[in-house]
Amino acid sequence: MGAGRPPRQAGAPVNPPVVLSSTFRADGPLSYSREGNPTWAAFEEVVGLLEGGRALAFASGMAAIAAVVETLPAGAAVVAPADAYSGTRRLLADLASRGRLRLHLVDVTEVKLVAEAADGAALVWLESPTNPLMRVPDLAATCQAAHERGALVAVDNTFATPLLQKPLDLGADVSVHSATKLLAGHSEVLMGVTVCRQEDLLDRLRTRRSLHGAVPGPMEAFMALQGLRTLALRMERAQSSAGELARRLESHPVVSEVLYPGLAGHPDHDLCRRQMSGFGTMVSFVVAGGAVAADAVCGAVQVCTPATSLGGVETLIERRGRWEGEEHLPPGLLRLSVGIEHVEDLWDDLARALEAAHRPG
Ligand SMILES: *Cc1c(COP(=O)(O)O)cnc(C)c1O
Repeated sequence: MGAGRPPRQAGAPVNPPVVLSSTFRADGPLSYSREGNPTWAAFEEVVGLLEGGRALAFASGMAAIAAVVETLPAGAAVVAPADAYSGTRRLLADLASRGRLRLHLVDVTEVKLVAEAADGAALVWLESPTNPLMRVPDLAATCQAAHERGALVAVDNTFATPLLQKPLDLGADVSVHSATKLLAGHSEVLMGVTVCRQEDLLDRLRTRRSLHGAVPGPMEAFMALQGLRTLALRMERAQSSAGELARRLESHPVVSEVLYPGLAGHPDHDLCRRQMSGFGTMVSFVVAGGAVAADAVCGAVQVCTPATSLGGVETLIERRGRWEGEEHLPPGLLRLSVGIEHVEDLWDDLARALEAAHRPG
């Protein structure tokens, strides 16, 4: 398939050129690179096909999220997950504190609560699975309930990727990604993307992008597109390792809880089986001994890298509770972003680090 590639002509390059030009000769289809750039367009073509809509590339996931929120009128009510990604919560709280919008944080796994809160709201923001508690809202039921009350629905699909979950097919108006994570996949670029089907919403988002100027560089778009080419392979490997590590962690004596929707005991396991075509590459788990023990695990790993972020080819581990605004999390909660290393190397590393963290003295 030739998505995001130059025309299939003899002698044509296989990859799209990186168009490093801020402006374009007058009277053509392109004018100025804040409005559009051919390298973004190649990336957008591929993401749009994967999600089943029209994609717009942004400078970061937060830029994409902010663009969606900024399409709302002043004073609009927004319903969002109480356990949404911390950046999303901080953005919404900041806007609410300045009177730009009204914010209702709810447990989005309870459709009834979202429906109640959606009365009179302009937007329901969802995340599936949530970062880092790995809860999965019922997207189809929630979209229907929100639409009946006249609210738009946006879904942060970063953890699932379009390969595992298609929010637009389930009724969402816009799907949003931090392309920094799994889509680009190599911990090298910051980028975001929105995908929607409705022409008027697409226009409003494009206007936000042009006016706010949160546009990606052509080089970033090229690198993210290169990453997308291997998304399916990376997902397959990382997801299979994530499932294996989750099962082994579950029976580890110093791990008190494993949050992974692929485990039969996960509260959203059955829903996840219906809604997603896989359980993803992210595993959160709680270490007995709280923050001290969890920090010790991060200090002891040698194959995994202690760092924030996720979705790269290298496994990252992080104690989320170390961040401001994440005090609601269990202090010993570690979030593991599983990469594509050999699963036995990862397990040896984790098992050794867990043991080192609990060795007396
Ligand atoms: C990282 C992340 C974001 C923010 O994306 P940036 O590219 O860092 O701006 C948004 N949502 C989720 C779920 C994330 O993990």
